[in-house]
Amino acid sequence: MILVTGGAGYIGSHINQMLAREGCETVVFDNLVYGHPEAVKWGVLEIGDLADRKRLDEIFENYKIDAVFHFAAYAYVGESVVKPSKYYNNNVANTLHLLDAMIRHKVNNIVFSSTCATYGVPMQMPITEETEQRPINPYGASKLMIERILSDYHSAYGLNYCCLRYFNAAGADPGGEIGESHTPETHLIPLILAAAAGDRESIEVFGTDYPTRDGSCVRDYIHVADLADAHLRAMEYLRKGGESTCINLGNCVGSSVLEVIRTAKEITGMDIPTVMKARRTGDPPILVGDSNKAETFLGWKPQYSDIRLILEHAWKWYCNKKY
Ligand code: UDP
Repeated sequence: MILVTGGAGYIGSHINQMLAREGCETVVFDNLVYGHPEAVKWGVLEIGDLADRKRLDEIFENYKIDAVFHFAAYAYVGESVVKPSKYYNNNVANTLHLLDAMIRHKVNNIVFSSTCATYGVPMQMPITEETEQRPINPYGASKLMIERILSDYHSAYGLNYCCLRYFNAAGADPGGEIGESHTPETHLIPLILAAAAGDRESIEVFGTDYPTRDGSCVRDYIHVADLADAHLRAMEYLRKGGESTCINLGNCVGSSVLEVIRTAKEITGMDIPTVMKARRTGDPPILVGDSNKAETFLGWKPQYSDIRLILEHAWKWYCNKKY
């Protein structure tokens, strides 16, 4: 069986769905602080916290776990700056509990949910895996620390890992069964769709004076179904004896905030009141990921990289949201 920590969250639930479709049995381990039990439609849901070592041992004892996908983490960048203790304790210390449990129970393969936030504000685009990692907030730093810990655990204990550094995860299950839902919501696309649906007054554009084609920030939005596909390939890669490594998951194409809003207007057919605001602290002007390594190592090519498809699937989900 496969253990999916954080499998009730946005990205984890989509990987859990795809694993089930591929015929894998899964155990989702989630404390439900931010996750949604309704998102766990496949496999077993075990409610618990990675801080609880005894509970973790129970999971490894009760199920025949042979691999781990690790998503459980806090992921609000702004909050991480004001509450670093919360982030380092959960994202770093609790991950150590998981890794130590894996060692104790002789489970050797882990796919880890990392992030382009580990790069900070890089000088060159697109970002490759060789770009220097200099995170500018505790969230990015906490993920980088785990990358380092995994490398050390690999050398010392033979734990095999694949760290996947996502760019901006977006979209929803093309079938509409599960999707993105955060409380509070801070991400651009769900907020745009909320404004389109009339659930918010407007969408605010954080910064219109960046050195980009239209002055707004450029991000590499990557469909969550493409992320799910990459995770399955990463596990297959490890199972076949692939060398432990870190891989970017991006499209190599960026969309500006204003372009996303314009496309969302077309897709939804709704007016989206837009308010220009000052820059948000800590936002680099452009983040675009080079995905050549993902193609070479995993044979992965995003299928849904068009921002129109991402918005179509996200809108379909938004209009029929179950949680
Ligand atoms: N953004 C925005 N208005 C919002 C939320 C986000 O203009 O209400 C911008 C943000 O400045 C960034 C981009 O949209 O350039 C994506 O932000 P998001 O929070 O979705 O993801 P992040 O890039 O921070 O991981």
